[in-house]
Amino acid sequence: MPREIIERIATCDDGRTLAVDYGMNLISSRRHGANPRDWELPLTVTGIHLDDHLITVHSAWLPDRQPDCDVCKLWREDHAIGPIQEVEALHRAWHLCEPLREVCAPGNHELTNLM
Ligand SMILES: [Zn+2]
Ligand SMILES: [Zn+2]
Repeated sequence: MPREIIERIATCDDGRTLAVDYGMNLISSRRHGANPRDWELPLTVTGIHLDDHLITVHSAWLPDRQPDCDVCKLWREDHAIGPIQEVEALHRAWHLCEPLREVCAPGNHELTNLM
């Protein structure tokens, strides 16, 4: 699911705003000489809001357990039955946002597609 999250989130106004906020903070955090005091808190807060939105509104987008991920593997061995736990949902949201984090680098302007 390379760029899927970005295309999907473009279809949701709230999600788009949240993703852009998160992405902008991520880009700031990766700038050369960036001071963690300037980005750490906003990055955490916007990340939580985005995850929250994805889990509650777009749970259908959350990917399956990923084969090369140790954390996912643990859950697979757990034989979870029924709805997935919130921690696992958060972890899957993290996988879902991987492509988003990839494009959020200084000099990469793909995020502007969401604005
Ligand atoms: Zn949404
Ligand atoms: Zn995983």
